[in-house]
Amino acid sequence: MGNSFYRDTWAEIDLDAIENNVQSMKKHIGKNVKLIAVVKANAYGHGDVEVAKIAIEAGADMLAVAFLDEALVLRHAGFDLPILVLGASRPSDVQIAINHDIILTSPSLQWLTAAEKHAEAGKLSVHLKLDTGMGRIGIRTENELLQAFEFAAGKQKVKIEGIFTHFATADELDTTYFKKQYERFTAMTRTAAEYENVMIHCGNSATGLRFPDKLVHAVRLGISMYGLSPSREIKDELPFELKEAFSLHSKLVHVKKISKGDKVSYGATYTAEKDEWIGTIPIGYADGWIRRLKDSEVLIDGVRMPIVGRICMDQCMIKLTSYKEVGTKVTLIGRQKEEYISIDDVAEKLETINYEVPCTITLRVPRMFLKNKSIIEVRNSLFCGKVQPGADEE
Ligand SMILES: *Cc1c(COP(=O)(O)O)cnc(C)c1O
Repeated sequence: MGNSFYRDTWAEIDLDAIENNVQSMKKHIGKNVKLIAVVKANAYGHGDVEVAKIAIEAGADMLAVAFLDEALVLRHAGFDLPILVLGASRPSDVQIAINHDIILTSPSLQWLTAAEKHAEAGKLSVHLKLDTGMGRIGIRTENELLQAFEFAAGKQKVKIEGIFTHFATADELDTTYFKKQYERFTAMTRTAAEYENVMIHCGNSATGLRFPDKLVHAVRLGISMYGLSPSREIKDELPFELKEAFSLHSKLVHVKKISKGDKVSYGATYTAEKDEWIGTIPIGYADGWIRRLKDSEVLIDGVRMPIVGRICMDQCMIKLTSYKEVGTKVTLIGRQKEEYISIDDVAEKLETINYEVPCTITLRVPRMFLKNKSIIEVRNSLFCGKVQPGADEE
């Protein structure tokens, strides 16, 4: 299934880095706090199944995703530990969640009431979401929270297994708003905490890194599992080293010398100032290497070289410092010798956050998974679920 590819552009996912980040976080939060590996959005673009597998090997107790569809993919892949859907699902879909033993998030009492009506056979497991200041989804008053518990207590078909909230500013040095949210959470869960077997959790990566004593029963580890700091401001005060897992590579598919005055790419916006070597790589905006990156650099033989001209849908051009052979490796994110282009560097160029960068690299880019520096698996999503070319040709 989708384990080969025929274009020289790929992302490498260092599974050892992910394993290391999970183990470091586990050590940091202690034995009594569970670790929920957040693998939504195809594990932030890294590869959901492969990341989930290594996270579990490293000691994750539970998986979390944003949508029911994502949870079903993981169940289908054979994972049998608890899976929590963090976003709001359709009440009409709860029987599907029950059938596959997936925990849903209840964003309100109204949702819980509607969901219970759609549960036909078996029992729906839910975590109640509390909105303590994020303003996204969740119950906003202690009264509504208690009503939800009362409602569930009288019902055979629904069970509240957890309560959680999400912080809006856990990654900011100013902790005023974080503290306000935390106090609201503590106050709201005071009574609910008396119910038995209810998992209480509030922390994302930033909370886990900075306030391990405030997590209660579990941390929801996302961005830092992938080796990235939740924000630039807290990068210098991380309690342990994070190892970046994602890198992006291509190869020169065409190399030519152009003369002074010659133009490159759509709009003919780039003009050679003298005779120049230009290399073409097979990656473009349809791969998530978006047009805004036109003034960025790549690494070839450990040297930074600029992208010139507009980025096309499937290709872009590099101004080479000297002649390079077709087939030479080009690194867009990652290390070559002493030089390093990090996800944070790319995020800065795009005036966005590091979270967005690997998420934006589309499924057209195959993912190679590495352990001990060797490739253990390749996933080409273009072929997944479709007939693999070649397979029926033989
Ligand atoms: C995505 C998400 C997380 C993970 O956050 P990170 O900052 O990536 O660690 C945790 N909780 C909820 C509710 C989320 O949506």
